[in-house]
Amino acid sequence: MENCIFCKIAKGEIPSYKIYEDKDIFAFLDIKPFSKGHCLVIPKQHFENIFDIDENILKKVAVVAKKMCEKIKNTLHADGIRLSQSNGKTAGQEIMHFHLHIIPRYEGDGIPMHPAATLHLPQANSEELKKIAEKLSNK
Ligand SMILES: [Zn+2]
Repeated sequence: MENCIFCKIAKGEIPSYKIYEDKDIFAFLDIKPFSKGHCLVIPKQHFENIFDIDENILKKVAVVAKKMCEKIKNTLHADGIRLSQSNGKTAGQEIMHFHLHIIPRYEGDGIPMHPAATLHLPQANSEELKKIAEKLSNK
């Protein structure tokens, strides 16, 4: 879809810290992370939300999310992982292209999980993001 930032990221038209890619699915680090390794899994094809996503693509998103969770647990040693996915502005969806957040949690990280907290997150250091992306990449 034209002017959709996630479509552009999936096509490589906008650079991202890519950690996974196959025919249908793309995953990359969130540049305003809640925590180390916070990433997003998206379908390459544009679907707005849970209501219009193709079921087979949704299954692929889930399988990739599981793989990424295992990798985050083993590589970054997360103590827990939260999955979060919003549908519609009222639910807090900001980018209208289906995306699943994978948010690693670390013992004592003190991260507030209230949705409003996302508005105040600072952009992460690019060198740090690059290092994490290398650790989690499927290449
Ligand atoms: Zn899109």
